[in-house]
Amino acid sequence: MRHLLTTTDLPRETVTALLDTAEALKQALLGREVRKLPTLRGRTVVTLFYENSTRTRASFEIAGKWMSADVVNISASGSSVAKGESLRDTALTLAAMGADCVVIRHPASGAAHRLASWVSTHVINAGDGTHQHPTQALLDAATLRERLGTLNGRIVTIVGDVLHSRVARSNIELLITLGARIHLVAPPTLLPWGVQNWGKGPNREERGWPVTVGHDLDTALPGTDAVMMLRVQAERMHGGFFPSAREYSISYGLTEARLRLLPEHAVVLHPGPMLRGMEIAHSVVDSPRAAIAEQVRNGVHVRMAVLYHLLAAQEEQA
Ligand code: ASP
Repeated sequence: MRHLLTTTDLPRETVTALLDTAEALKQALLGREVRKLPTLRGRTVVTLFYENSTRTRASFEIAGKWMSADVVNISASGSSVAKGESLRDTALTLAAMGADCVVIRHPASGAAHRLASWVSTHVINAGDGTHQHPTQALLDAATLRERLGTLNGRIVTIVGDVLHSRVARSNIELLITLGARIHLVAPPTLLPWGVQNWGKGPNREERGWPVTVGHDLDTALPGTDAVMMLRVQAERMHGGFFPSAREYSISYGLTEARLRLLPEHAVVLHPGPMLRGMEIAHSVVDSPRAAIAEQVRNGVHVRMAVLYHLLAAQEEQA
């Protein structure tokens, strides 16, 4: 694996290898007072963020540091980007300084792919516009595997702003690759055109389970193994996609009453940041069914696994 840009073309064996490595790293570090492995000593990882982030950026930094890499963080707002420097020139500058890996977040869909075509360093897509966020999907899959055992045949219901969500896109592709069935619940205005066909692709034709779509959360919940709530991406909305936050919440919010409709074993996920009280009730976030803190915890181990596979695994095999 040279880059991690999308979950669309990730074969099942690669996904499983990444998740297994993340699990092994988690076990290796469990209970350790000093969390430092020498794996990436002498390697330089640069995070280049053109959009805000708390979880993704911090966990890439922690992941790199726990494996002894040198990690440099660049925010567009505090860099020469603010003086008008192009993405290409910024990327070439970082490559010239010896970056081994660039982790990029950018508001434009496709930015990570463009970057990968300009530089010879490894590139990780940490979210490009409404397109993809592959490490989020991997950490969600790691969390679901931990809670549910297997994803094969499991029904994952994704709720909310699918239209603007790179988390939904990445998860639909990845979870189907792992054998899950996807049901989407959203207002018609927040569903992309042709979403039913997203699951079809080079790695999954043999299963052929279509993505199903509905608008009624109450009828979807009883048959669900996991429910993934999405953030309403106000920053990407130019127009009225629903009448009001209150109406959205009434139809699509995960309330305490709705939590009771889920089967006993079902898991609640949210990628964060959450709009508590609108997308998800306070008490639901804090309930034992919610695996939101586990998602964040697994995010560090998954990002360690991705850095390891990109920067160290091939060398070790050689
Ligand atoms: N943190 C996730 C992302 O960057 C989800 C979100 O912001 O809604 O896509």
